[in-house]
Amino acid sequence: MGEGLGEGTDMKLFIVATPIGNLADLSPRAIETFKISEAILCEDTRVSSKLFSHLGLKKTLIAVHQHTDDRRISEAINLLREGKTLSLITDAGTPAISDPGGKFVEAALKELGDELQVVPIPGPCAAISALSISGFPADNFLFLGFPPHKKGRKTYFEQIAATEETVCFYESTHRILKTLTELGEKIGDRKIVVCRELTKIYETTYRGTAAEVTKRLEKGSIKGEFVVVIGPFKK
Ligand code: SAM
Repeated sequence: MGEGLGEGTDMKLFIVATPIGNLADLSPRAIETFKISEAILCEDTRVSSKLFSHLGLKKTLIAVHQHTDDRRISEAINLLREGKTLSLITDAGTPAISDPGGKFVEAALKELGDELQVVPIPGPCAAISALSISGFPADNFLFLGFPPHKKGRKTYFEQIAATEETVCFYESTHRILKTLTELGEKIGDRKIVVCRELTKIYETTYRGTAAEVTKRLEKGSIKGEFVVVIGPFKK
């Protein structure tokens, strides 16, 4: 067993990052961690079962997503209390980064306190991948998750416009054009980078102003998942 996968208390919860598209991005350490886990907590068992069948691993998958009732969460916490080693994954990427993973970690720590050892198994994250290729300074950045659909939406874009540093957020295929249009109205000619389908066959990176990127997206395909990165103010 590798360093960090082992010693300490009996209650162990591994937070394991999984691929955001390309299955080859799953780390060897993630696979080792799955092997020693007695069950895998996940977001959607249908999504995660594909990953485990690809790995040829037979594992008990337990869904603990945002709609899971408290009883299911308590049952999973009880498994930890009994000394069972568990891994937590979400549908893609690093759990808790704009997905339901964080809710379980919070609940488990509240219930079990410091006796619970929570161990990260790092790996892919769409936001970090996009920032790494943006060419914008990322020593200091603001990550804002998904824009709200209704309440707070205007303030969200105003906050971006008022932020001097690099800003990053997530968007879905259904809302990307609307979002870029509204973003453009607030940030004008500030440069942005839009990453579509990172690590997948149709991976595309668009660079320019929001208006320029919107035009290019309208001409091409807007299918897929998106990360938007906004460059800093040029003072
Ligand atoms: N926890 C995940 C992570 O570490 O990136 C993010 C989960 S969030 C529910 C899903 C959103 O992440 C998508 O709607 C999209 O904005 C972004 N995303 C995930 N995979 C992506 C990919 N391959 N390319 C671009 N964006 C992606």
